[in-house]
Amino acid sequence: MRRNIVAANWKMNGSRELVESLVGGVKAGVAKLDKDVEVVIIPPSLYLADVEKAVSGSALQLGVQNVARWESGAYTGEVSAQMASDVGCAYALVGHSERRQLFAEDDVQVAEKVRLILASGLVAIICVGETLEEREAGQAEQVVARQIRAALADVSGEGWKKIVIAYEPVWAIGTGKTATAVDAQNMHANMRGLLSELGAPAQEISLLYGGSVKPDNAAELFAQADIDGGLIGGASLVSDDFVRICGAV
Ligand code: 13P
Repeated sequence: MRRNIVAANWKMNGSRELVESLVGGVKAGVAKLDKDVEVVIIPPSLYLADVEKAVSGSALQLGVQNVARWESGAYTGEVSAQMASDVGCAYALVGHSERRQLFAEDDVQVAEKVRLILASGLVAIICVGETLEEREAGQAEQVVARQIRAALADVSGEGWKKIVIAYEPVWAIGTGKTATAVDAQNMHANMRGLLSELGAPAQEISLLYGGSVKPDNAAELFAQADIDGGLIGGASLVSDDFVRICGAV
């Protein structure tokens, strides 16, 4: 059976004070949930050590928001997948639309990063999703399929166990507009079909939905057959909201 996962992508938000209050609340809240869900906190890299301390003694997992395309060396400002693993991360986001749009990360770079993430023993949460323009042009499925094919180009064998895919339609991120549960399910079912085509153990791979997931829409989204959890931005910064979302799987 594939895992249910709810991951908190803090993006470039937070402070030591927030780590204290937020992670404390999430830890206590998640401990009381009677749910089979893996909860991952993905703070800005500078706070990984603080979050690691704050989650100790709980089942909460750590993730990094981005990794470099290189293993090590003269790449000022970059953080490697191996470093993320070294400081206790189990997960790495890759290909988030904000990275694609604001930092010109393309499909080739995403594939390079996926390779390094897997080589470091981390689970890659590969983010895919179409823009509003692409959706309106009827290209949503095509765009998502292209992103998935490219990101997984070098994945095989045991590597499949370290792959999670998050469908985050760009127009739903931070906008308060979510895909309808039916639209999201259709996309997830297509994605699972594509994974089969690529020779992956598609039924074993967790597929997450992201984009304006809130406590009041999470249950309907997570109830869909091919949606195995969520990647949460804004609502992950409020501990009660995030815990309610974790409880909705
Ligand atoms: P919001 O939940 O704020 O829409 O962000 C989603 C997201 O981008 C998570 O990676």
